[in-house]
Amino acid sequence: MRKQIKQLPSHLINQISAGEVVERPASVVKELVENSIDASASHIKIQIESGGVKLIRIQDNGTGVAKAELSLALSRHATSKVRQLSDLERIDSMGFRGEALPSIASISRFSICSAIDDSQAGWCLKADSDEVMPQGHPRGTTVEVRDLFYNTPARRKFLKTEKTEFNHIEKVVQRLAMGRFDIGFELEHNGRNRFNLASAKDHQQNQQRVGQLLGKPFIEQSVYIEEQGIGLKLVGWVGLPTFSRSQADMQYFYVNGRIVRDRLVTHAVKQAYQDVLYHGRQPTYLLYLTLDPALVDVNVHPTKHEVRFREGRLVHDFLFQRLHHALAQTKPTTEAVSPPNVFDKSQSSIKPLATSATQNEINIQPSLGFRQVKEKPAAFRASYQAQRPNNNKPIEEVIFNAPEINQEAVEKPPLGFAKAQIHGIFIIAENENGLIMVDIHAAHERITYERLKSAYATNGIQSQPLLVPIAVDLNTQEVELIKQHQHFFTSYGMHVERLGLEQVVIRDIPLILQDAATDAEQLLRDLIADLNTYGESNRLQSESDAVLSKMACYGAIRANRQLSLAEMNTLLRDMEQTDRSNQCNHGRPTWIQLSI
Ligand code: ADP
Ligand code: MG
Repeated sequence: MRKQIKQLPSHLINQISAGEVVERPASVVKELVENSIDASASHIKIQIESGGVKLIRIQDNGTGVAKAELSLALSRHATSKVRQLSDLERIDSMGFRGEALPSIASISRFSICSAIDDSQAGWCLKADSDEVMPQGHPRGTTVEVRDLFYNTPARRKFLKTEKTEFNHIEKVVQRLAMGRFDIGFELEHNGRNRFNLASAKDHQQNQQRVGQLLGKPFIEQSVYIEEQGIGLKLVGWVGLPTFSRSQADMQYFYVNGRIVRDRLVTHAVKQAYQDVLYHGRQPTYLLYLTLDPALVDVNVHPTKHEVRFREGRLVHDFLFQRLHHALAQTKPTTEAVSPPNVFDKSQSSIKPLATSATQNEINIQPSLGFRQVKEKPAAFRASYQAQRPNNNKPIEEVIFNAPEINQEAVEKPPLGFAKAQIHGIFIIAENENGLIMVDIHAAHERITYERLKSAYATNGIQSQPLLVPIAVDLNTQEVELIKQHQHFFTSYGMHVERLGLEQVVIRDIPLILQDAATDAEQLLRDLIADLNTYGESNRLQSESDAVLSKMACYGAIRANRQLSLAEMNTLLRDMEQTDRSNQCNHGRPTWIQLSI
């Protein structure tokens, strides 16, 4: 049967549009704080109760709304920010669609109180009545949103715990606060102050705010840049390659004061980092791009998280070039030196070793003249197994206490016997076919990884108390996250305790990191980033291999550690015993054969 076409009532239109703009309490906070910013407030106070479901109250000291315009502010498509089409093409305010207040008001118990001067003569409007009531109020506006989603149970069902919802709110406010250093921000949850940021007046104070929000380590391990040209200005902090993370969760990019997620931007930044960042690591940055508003379209999506640049290529190249240049300055000053090429150039494509002190990425390409031995003979495996005294011990113990293996008794192991260690990086060994070259770090990393995987699946990762616990500076949100997910960290052999609002202490670390305890801090940051990204979802579980792989990387033998012949032989034997040991966890070959 044909249904009649009817005009929807405005209340329903608002609720439909709320579905787009208001996903969760944090979206309300974003819209309301943006309104306060647009009203030129210099101080914004945000009070939250029960993760924002019970109450969101935002008070600002901005220009206020006149009594006569209060009800207009709550009606759809009413805005003071856009007058004509040409305004849309050069938007300099956060809002412009005139739909946030009516949408929010349609799915909550809503009130707005405002005064346009300091005479204390303010006026209030409750969304469910048409009456404007007098109410003393200093210059500025207070918006109260109670019982969000009370009349839209479907939405309500999707809400997570109070803590999770507040975490989202905190992130939103943090982002807004990093977008406007000149504005003071106060955030309160259930009557408890979470932060109180005074408006910053100079670079020093800006930096202090960033440290407060993203943690001091970010500031300490980043460089501040200021670049300008062709009508574009780029300022901000770019994290040093050594402060990279396992996830893209510390990347903030603002375009004309608005935080955006933009593929073009992400790509340009990623490219700039490409040659200084270890494979798979994510850069950290907090950047601000300013350009003529006419050159960027923010009216792409209702939530305004996306933008479109009119000159995309130009912006991309500007970002890439300036960041690439800035990052070049952060490299160690020692020039990369190609090692003397012992092989005929036409015969080999061994790449010069990267001399980056921090990464020691070793790049061996098997090629002409080299032959990868693919099989490890089963017969040998058995004879070795019987030989090896330390069958079940972790490799660290074996390596450090390895007894001399009786070479006569072991028959022709595929990787032969070690002859020397080169540059603290390679093992040179002799086998039946000729010469074997092993990338020590890569090989050890694979062995460690495979062991961790089986340990994680069976008895759990063995941990070891630290003689001297390591204090780690984090931001408050990260500390909170650790508190909430203790079991997650212990499952990876880490015991972490809260020391203060912005500090934790690592007491136990995974046993395999005992010789690289300083990396425990980096591992902790990676785990936090993973947790941040995958949250409470099951995804985290399926990410365990990735975590273990990272752990293996930290735990693997560092370059330049001198190994004894016995230690080297133990490593060769372990390689023969370990699945997938022909390549490291990043896919590089761990060894090559040069035949006679
Ligand atoms: P938009 O921000 O897109 O204009 P909103 O629905 O968010 O739409 O707000 C409607 C109007 O109400 C704004 O254009 C502004 O004039 C007024 N307004 C909202 N919040 C405030 C505030 N905190 N201070 C002053 N005016 C406000
Ligand atoms: Mg708005």
